[in-house]
Amino acid sequence: MKVVEKINDMRRLRQQLAEPVGLVPTMGYLHEGHLAIARQARAENPSVVVSIFVNPTQFGPQEDFKQYPRDLQRDLALLEKEKTDIVFMPSVTEMYPAQFNSWVEVSKVTERLEGAARPGHFRGVTTVCAKLFNIVQPTRAYFGQKDAQQAIVIKKMVADLNMNLEIVTVPTVREPDGLAMSSRNIYLNPQERQAALVLYQALSLAQQLWSQGEKDAERIRHEMLTLIKKQPLADIDYVSIADTETLDELDTVSPPALVSLAVRIGKTRLIDNIVLE
Ligand code: AMP
Repeated sequence: MKVVEKINDMRRLRQQLAEPVGLVPTMGYLHEGHLAIARQARAENPSVVVSIFVNPTQFGPQEDFKQYPRDLQRDLALLEKEKTDIVFMPSVTEMYPAQFNSWVEVSKVTERLEGAARPGHFRGVTTVCAKLFNIVQPTRAYFGQKDAQQAIVIKKMVADLNMNLEIVTVPTVREPDGLAMSSRNIYLNPQERQAALVLYQALSLAQQLWSQGEKDAERIRHEMLTLIKKQPLADIDYVSIADTETLDELDTVSPPALVSLAVRIGKTRLIDNIVLE
């Protein structure tokens, strides 16, 4: 496994990789969710590049860029086990030198949900992904369903800008009790970790109501909100039932529908989602 910090070195080594090449963009502090993506990329491509870059431009000024957990040595050991060919881990100045002035912006689908709650977030995500795609030139890039809107936004950018790669979405990996794996789960104290189960409980309730024939999206949202409000440590950011392509809120659930939510547990903001099919 080669570990590369410079864009020029990444480009040079890219030329020697067997095609097709799979890219897995991450912010590091890897867990089983990241590793499941790396494994799928490994199974589908003879060459796998994993990037580790905590991208400052996708964090708001009041967000956790500085505190975001980092453990490079552990990450590298895990990626070595997954038979990663190249780990690309550039510095912030390597990716954003002084005078960096170009941005990629997708409109509409970025205006809702995470985009509404985190202004500028998706501009940072699309810009860094466009840069990674240009640097690594992957055949396929892999994203987790955990960040459903992110995958939708990236797919839209690739389609709109005729980028020459395929975007693959990988199912969400959960802890045995249902909590979606996230690097940010480390912020939760034991009491908050227990309270955080309310996200998956609310999603499971939506799934159950839908399976029982409930098609009224507002009724499902209402039941989810009622459940979450019973958890004193939870502070709801949004609960959404939306079209999986446009992210328009639905009155009537017509499959596939994206049920997603963002909830603060103490100071930690968690997101999760399921698709009703
Ligand atoms: P991050 O390091 O949080 O930026 O995540 C890197 C990639 O891993 C993104 O495509 C995420 O959607 C994906 N990911 C994060 N958590 C999970 C999870 N629990 N299951 C599946 N994919 C995940």
